[in-house]
Amino acid sequence: MIHNREKSSILLIYTGGTIGMKEDPSIQALRPFDFSQILEEVPELGKFAYKIDSYTFDPLIDSSDVDPLNWVTLASLIEERYDGYDGFVILHGTDTMAYSASALSFMIEGLTKPVIFTGSQLPIGVPRTDGKENLISAVEIAASKDADGHATVPEVCICFDNVLMRGNRTTKINSDNFRAFRSPNLPPLAEAGISIRYNSALVIKPEDWDRKPVFHKSLDTRVSILKIHPGITPQVARAILCGEESRAVIMETYGAGNAPSRGWFLDLVREASRKGKILVNVTQCLAGSVNMDIYATGKSLKELGVINAYDSTTESALGKLFYLMGLNAEDEDVKRMLCNNLRGEISK
Ligand code: ASP
Repeated sequence: MIHNREKSSILLIYTGGTIGMKEDPSIQALRPFDFSQILEEVPELGKFAYKIDSYTFDPLIDSSDVDPLNWVTLASLIEERYDGYDGFVILHGTDTMAYSASALSFMIEGLTKPVIFTGSQLPIGVPRTDGKENLISAVEIAASKDADGHATVPEVCICFDNVLMRGNRTTKINSDNFRAFRSPNLPPLAEAGISIRYNSALVIKPEDWDRKPVFHKSLDTRVSILKIHPGITPQVARAILCGEESRAVIMETYGAGNAPSRGWFLDLVREASRKGKILVNVTQCLAGSVNMDIYATGKSLKELGVINAYDSTTESALGKLFYLMGLNAEDEDVKRMLCNNLRGEISK
């Protein structure tokens, strides 16, 4: 086997979040540390024969403050630096990491290099941190190439607690455990043990390794989310389904895509549909898929024009809608493309 021995180069983008915090004894609190000191904080990175450059967001953001404009900044940065690096590692707060990774997966079409999100539950400066391990694994994966010199995983992923997951399949499931993310509908793309074992059969490869990706930076964010629950009132459902400001509504339904069968609810869905809203059905279940042909309640939604998001996460459906609606496409085309598997986000 011929191994590509060229030194890999990685751009480490620090956006904020717990991972980059350090205990400052003078104030007995956490504060972001200067990322030019990254090799000092994580000397293990120096043992790799990689060239690692860093870029720090200014200001740093707690990921609860992440906004689609930050995704545009990230996409633009990767686009500008694309030719100079073999892979990109994005250090990001965990709270909205699944949203950001999902959105970026749609915004970059024809990716030929890894874009790996990671972060941590404990700051990198504290003794039991998970940040070092997460960062080291993310860098190693971002730098990994196959025998032909192509990236092993040219996808937008989340690397967390020794597991590499397709970004648009992930969801944050735990607020205090090191295993903070899950990809319930797709097995891991890799697992880091003594060595990193890649699940190559699952990895999506570009059609043309030599073609530069297309970066889609226009997002239409006019999307609302309706979480259906027992006791939901017509007033609440109407405000979200028929509100003037939204072009699309993600309906988080029960089980296989079911919603109340009461007349007032279906009337509101009909009204929203008549108003031209793009209605998308995502299940509240962590795993499994929407199937609107099983129960009468699901069938009614289908008849009213509700689009099946299959086993999509809400995070992924949101990013996909922002991206598709930002393409300047007609509603009918957006609906058609929503049903297609664009970046491995749905099993179809
Ligand atoms: N609130 C933090 C953030 O998401 C939590 C974390 O980094 O884990 O930015």
